[in-house]
Amino acid sequence: MCTVNAVAALLSVDEALARVLERARPLSAEAVPLERASGRTLAEDATAVIDLPRFPSSAMDGFALRAADTPGELPVVARVAAGRPAPRSLEAGEAMGIATGGVVPEGADAVVPIERVTESGDTVTVPDAVARGANIRPLAADVRAGGSVVPAGTLLTPSRIAALAAAGVAEPRCAALPRIAIVTTGTELRPPGEPLGDGEIYESNGVMLAALLERHGLVLERETVADDEASHREALARGLEADVLVTSGGVSVGPHDLVRGILAELGAEEVFWGVAMRPGKPISFATRGQTLVFGLPGNPVSSLVGALLFVVPALRALQGASGPAPRFERGMLGSAARRNPNRDDFQRARLELDGDRAVLLPIEGQESHMIVRAAAADALVHVPRGKGELAAGTEARYLSLGDA
Ligand code: AMP
Ligand code: MG
Repeated sequence: MCTVNAVAALLSVDEALARVLERARPLSAEAVPLERASGRTLAEDATAVIDLPRFPSSAMDGFALRAADTPGELPVVARVAAGRPAPRSLEAGEAMGIATGGVVPEGADAVVPIERVTESGDTVTVPDAVARGANIRPLAADVRAGGSVVPAGTLLTPSRIAALAAAGVAEPRCAALPRIAIVTTGTELRPPGEPLGDGEIYESNGVMLAALLERHGLVLERETVADDEASHREALARGLEADVLVTSGGVSVGPHDLVRGILAELGAEEVFWGVAMRPGKPISFATRGQTLVFGLPGNPVSSLVGALLFVVPALRALQGASGPAPRFERGMLGSAARRNPNRDDFQRARLELDGDRAVLLPIEGQESHMIVRAAAADALVHVPRGKGELAAGTEARYLSLGDA
């Protein structure tokens, strides 16, 4: 038998994330009205129902005419408002008034803006030659009917929702939102606002996790249980009915750390326990059927970091997102950062801009219970494990905490 070094046995962050993502199979798809599609992920390619623009349209308020008739003085034979096509085609030597977005009449091949002409009664004088095609938005220049508007796996942002609307897609097929249960554990936990007894503290992970995760799924239930087996069993059994169960606390090696044992009793199969990271090393991950179960350590910063690195990516993957992994950006350390020899460190830092460059300044107070210190940070800086420290000026990857 060989002895395994406990440190060497920890999974790397990348390996742990890979194990999570390969078990996060996309949920079913459903039609979602555009009004409710913000933040949803497309499950199928959305294609244009119509050509866009659907007709050659005017880019300016002005006059539709034939380029060959300019410069010149032309009779204005009709006025075309947006939404109403011209009554007839335009003949040689004629002009028609036209509004931005108006249908360019048959027979016209240019629009001259109102600012470039002089009008008197029903005659318009065009002093300069106008190029063919000027100020006409060609048919289908944005997209053809049947062409791709937004590909599957894309997060629906406001601009993409506008694109779908313009192309006639009223109810895009989106991945169902993952149903999430949150169970925080600890006999010492009380809701903020209530008086605290000796040894008690305010519960903060539950509200944090709910606020973070409800952006990526439906938080169906959230409860706090005491460190006794019966309460754990009841809450965890209920939580296992969700698509994703997230627990906090109770995954370390103490006698009151009951989460992993009870999950196993309830049929959850552990995929890993322990990741070579700081904070958040004792994180556990299990599955039961299609349900993903994350056991986040109770220290508030550990819970936050574990949720950002693993739970949010899993929620994206469950929605079939292309690129569900955390999106690290590049910056530069503005001061030295100590490295941990065995674990990748995720340090909380303030971010300052030096011109366009992100300068990362690790904050004082990196311990995993210091959530107030962490709340002042803008970024989570990845300091890879290794000897010594990373000097100021070193390139570093970071996750924005801007909306966390
Ligand atoms: P545990 O992982 O259960 O050993 O908890 C580690 C530390 O985090 C302890 O100091 C707990 O009191 C604290 N803690 C656990 N859960 C929470 C919570 N939901 N909110 C705030 N602190 C917590
Ligand atoms: Mg505990």
